[in-house]
Amino acid sequence: MNPEETLKGIPASAGVTIGRPFFLDSEGFSVQRQEIAEEEVAGEIARFEDALIQTRAEILRIQKKILEEMGKEQGEIFSAHLLVIEDRTLIEEVITRVKAEKVVVDYIFLDVLKRYIHAFSKIEDEYIRERTSDIEDVGKRVLRTLLGKQRQTLQDLKEPVIVVAYDLSPSDTALMHRENVKGFVTDIGGRTSHTAIMAKSLEIPAVVGLEEVTQRVSKDDLLIIDGAQGLVIINPTEETIRRYTEEQKRLEEFGRSLLKLKDLPAETLDGHRVTLAANIEFPHEIPSVIAHGAEGIGLYRTEYFYMNRVDLPTEEEHFESYHKVVQEVQPHSVIVRTLDLGGDKFLSQLDIPNEMNPFLGWRAIRFCLARPDIFKVQLRAILRASAKGKMKVMYPMISGVEELRQANALFREVKEELRREKIPFDEKIEVGAMIEIPSAALTCDLLAKEVHFFSIGTNDLIQYALAVDRSNEKIAYLYEPAHPAVLRLVKHIIDTAHKHHLWVGMCGEMAGDPRLALILLGLGLDGFSTSAVNLPEIKRVIRSVKMGEAKKIAEEALSLSTGREVEAYLEKMTKKIFMGEP
Ligand code: PEP
Ligand code: MG
Repeated sequence: MNPEETLKGIPASAGVTIGRPFFLDSEGFSVQRQEIAEEEVAGEIARFEDALIQTRAEILRIQKKILEEMGKEQGEIFSAHLLVIEDRTLIEEVITRVKAEKVVVDYIFLDVLKRYIHAFSKIEDEYIRERTSDIEDVGKRVLRTLLGKQRQTLQDLKEPVIVVAYDLSPSDTALMHRENVKGFVTDIGGRTSHTAIMAKSLEIPAVVGLEEVTQRVSKDDLLIIDGAQGLVIINPTEETIRRYTEEQKRLEEFGRSLLKLKDLPAETLDGHRVTLAANIEFPHEIPSVIAHGAEGIGLYRTEYFYMNRVDLPTEEEHFESYHKVVQEVQPHSVIVRTLDLGGDKFLSQLDIPNEMNPFLGWRAIRFCLARPDIFKVQLRAILRASAKGKMKVMYPMISGVEELRQANALFREVKEELRREKIPFDEKIEVGAMIEIPSAALTCDLLAKEVHFFSIGTNDLIQYALAVDRSNEKIAYLYEPAHPAVLRLVKHIIDTAHKHHLWVGMCGEMAGDPRLALILLGLGLDGFSTSAVNLPEIKRVIRSVKMGEAKKIAEEALSLSTGREVEAYLEKMTKKIFMGEP
């Protein structure tokens, strides 16, 4: 057994877990580098050739069907696929490498394929660049055939494991709740990528941005994840295992003690009350939301509805989910955010072109306004559910007044349709705008006239204000919620909202940081919405200070010059409040 080794990454979801690795490729395949003996080489090559023949037959079958049902143009796509599978350079390279390296063909094939895809995606000629998706598609088919029955996906897990992956998409992570996943670690990714956010919702420890965890971990290693510190310990000693087993118990006890605050109000020592709500992705999270004492749902991310399926959700499906959630959190309210696709959330059933800058691209409300057919289905369902409990709706990625007016116009159209059809809904349903783009923050006095409330989406606001991709581990050190620019924007939004008598909440991850809670409280934020697991600690902070104190802390923090200075100051103040230090 190799000696203990510790890797440091970015903390994504707190908690400690111990287990064996399960390698997951980005396509959901578990492909491991495995050496073979000289006499096995011929068998591996035969297996590869068999897979090529089978895949070719499969493509011809599909092509025939498509030609019959959809015509020549659609069928032509598969001719391009056939060219890929008959490409001698690719085939020869795989065979040569299997012979030279004596490694299983699945691994070599995937490696060669990735290089091809990378090379093609960089080519300037648009026609050739577009062939990348053909290579991807055919590659997946061959791999599926190669792996055959050996293919293991998250759904096949028989025992608890720690998933080790280069990257995980939000749709991969969405499948984990049903599986034996005790935690996950990835090479890339940032603290507020949706994969990280999802780990918190699922309450599984996770560390992202470890850069080379997939290369450092081997099949038989034992792993410990320390989610709060962002550490992965490979092959821990007996002593380390003992220490972490105790830490696991301590964390469980701390969690239980915090839950005692569950039914107490989120108010300061001098009675200033705020709302503490939860962010969710799925209705099945509601029991945890209630257990952590949330006052309703401050952000219901609805993109997950559209993931891991081939068709679009129907109005009835939307309605059933909203209805369930709104009923279960009564008497509290639910803020449903309309479809926020794009950025790091892709939906396979919508044919959305690859973009150079997906976070700045055709996404969220921009997509919904261009596709009212899809948008209106969701708006109808939200309105219908508003007759069953307290529902509110908010739009993501609003960049200015025009978009907001267009969205509101569509909302009015849908209301009118329902009235005509005599379908009940809440005529007073509140509409909000997410403030997550600097242009919205700077024009929020104008936006205030078009909506009932604001919700500050700091995950995006920080990335746009500081020009730092939220999912890129290389620049994670620049992603600073305490940066003076962020604090000034947040203050401006809160002050402007209040000037216009609007309620203003925050639903980005910043709202779940107990130290920053002191500043947000002091700035006058009305509502905090974050992963349910964070809520008890935020409540503890709020219940430990007077409003005057929080205001002073906010004032002092805003006078500092750097994010680091703000963090150091908050560290000092938190110690003072909780440990009575001078
Ligand atoms: C945000 O941007 O802060 C937010 C809450 O939305 P999401 O994380 O889904 O982009
Ligand atoms: Mg956002």
